[in-house]
Amino acid sequence: MKKVKRAAPLNIMQTRRQMLLSCLALASLTGRAGFAAGALIPASQGAARPRGGAHCVMIDPGHGGIDPGAIGHQGAKEKHVVLAIANKVRANLAQYSHIQTRLTREQDEFIPLYRRVELAHEHQADLFVSIHADGFTSPSAAGASVFALSNRGASSAMAGYLSQKENAADDVAGGKYRQQDNYLQQVLFDLVQTDTIKNSLTLGRHLLNHIRPVHQLHSQHTEQAAFAVLKSASIPSVLVETSFITNHQEEQLLETAKFQDQIALAISSGIVDFFAYFDAHERHAGAAPGR
Ligand SMILES: [Zn+2]
Repeated sequence: MKKVKRAAPLNIMQTRRQMLLSCLALASLTGRAGFAAGALIPASQGAARPRGGAHCVMIDPGHGGIDPGAIGHQGAKEKHVVLAIANKVRANLAQYSHIQTRLTREQDEFIPLYRRVELAHEHQADLFVSIHADGFTSPSAAGASVFALSNRGASSAMAGYLSQKENAADDVAGGKYRQQDNYLQQVLFDLVQTDTIKNSLTLGRHLLNHIRPVHQLHSQHTEQAAFAVLKSASIPSVLVETSFITNHQEEQLLETAKFQDQIALAISSGIVDFFAYFDAHERHAGAAPGR
């Protein structure tokens, strides 16, 4: 994908705290090989700062290429159903002129987890939404869940199980990418990330509000765990498990255009709501929610 560079207009409503956090994040990133440090500052202001009225959301279809993701009992592969759903989300969001949508992958290809996060930064994304349909050891597990990053352990046993499973995606390529995942190893990052996680939880709430009417929820609230693909310090990021591909009924559902349409509409509506909430909050309060 072409690298997008934009000028970074100064947000006059920016608080001293936000300014400090941006500087700390930049300082902590300086020297990181292959990372455009200049890209962080615009992204660190996240959804609070529309550029020329436009927001950018990075949609991340999980897995791909040599990593099929979870496989259902009838043979459905997670990597295919999540790409189909991601394309529908992008088509829905195309109706909104103030929202630009990018995909981390547009075909069946392997992309390491850290690279997915880098792509979001390179495109100066305001949000990152990773889409999955994972499996569990028990076929009775069912329903959708939304996850945000946790720096302090998983909020439930299922959150811990799924984050371990998702983080193992790079192992199919021999684990050579794991060493490049250093997002959480810098203390200064955590300061910025605390604010980012608050915004991720707000995004999760909007997504769950739209998923609830169309599909059962495995968890009523946004869960938290140490998902590697959610480790952007500055871009609010969530991972949506649309359902369990290892559940017989949900595997069948996942392959129907009707269910893919419903869940894609719920995800895109949640994103639209989040931006509307954020813009309204900025207009009235002059600061990002949760700050
Ligand atoms: Zn997955």
